Amino acid sequence: MSSEVDLESEQYEKHREAGRILSQVREETADRVEVGVSHLEIAEYAEDRIRELGGQPAFPVNISIDEEAAHATPSIDDESTFGEEMINLDIGVHVDGWLADTAITVDLSGHDELAEASEQALEAAIDVIEPGVNTGDIGAEIEGVIDGYGFNPVVNLTGHGLGHWEQHTAPNIPNRAVSQGTTLEVGDVVAIEPFATDGSGKVTEGSSEEIYSLEHERSVRNRQAREALSQITEEFRTLPFATRWLETDRPEMALRRLKSSSVVHGYPVLKEDDGFLVSQKEHTIIITEDGCEVTTE
Ligand code: MN
Ligand code: MN
Repeated sequence: MSSEVDLESEQYEKHREAGRILSQVREETADRVEVGVSHLEIAEYAEDRIRELGGQPAFPVNISIDEEAAHATPSIDDESTFGEEMINLDIGVHVDGWLADTAITVDLSGHDELAEASEQALEAAIDVIEPGVNTGDIGAEIEGVIDGYGFNPVVNLTGHGLGHWEQHTAPNIPNRAVSQGTTLEVGDVVAIEPFATDGSGKVTEGSSEEIYSLEHERSVRNRQAREALSQITEEFRTLPFATRWLETDRPEMALRRLKSSSVVHGYPVLKEDDGFLVSQKEHTIIITEDGCEVTTE
């Protein structure tokens, strides 16, 4: 974006409003995570609070446990409860399609240093961000801090730009030093999200899948699939949604049909190998003339 961009315009005000709602919901939700509390109750609490405060969830609340890093959200009748685990909450809000994205680790497993590694990496990254900074240098900061704790950054998950009704746009913000980065400019809105792990630093796809998004809109005959598609195109557009958000009867069957005809695609849970842990911290920022503004502080 050029430096003539107006950071007081309506679009940026909506990004900021999304960020304010999200900061409050992140703190209120994290406070409720305790051993024995249900995942579904936490996800629905956060998503309901977002709506009460005047926003919309930008994607289903991600609740990642221990080796899980991303794309896990409760199923319709989920009965899981928290144990003495490492829990990552990743939450998004949009106001008229303008987004904010944040994550926090709530550690009930006694691995303070691993949680602290991603927090400190995020702070170090934010400290070097100003117009003209190369994304490779942001990645180097993140990698340096996490490496200093004796852990690995997850290198195949990255921060990203936030577009209108789009959760992931260019540029990628790497979690390690790369030589071919791109340059951030005034007005860019990006999410920075370091992940730290005591595992290999490469996540792979698991078998479960509860989050989907629209891929190709086309007509479908089945009634439930048609009802689901109409809710998706009107309410979520190209943003991710959960099976439990669909209002049609037999939502799981509707989704299977939409998926088999490539109308939607799923996001499998991404995870480290069993026995390892992943922490995550994320903020959304706007690049300003003299540095950056954190919308989700
Ligand atoms: Mn996120
Ligand atoms: Mn993100």
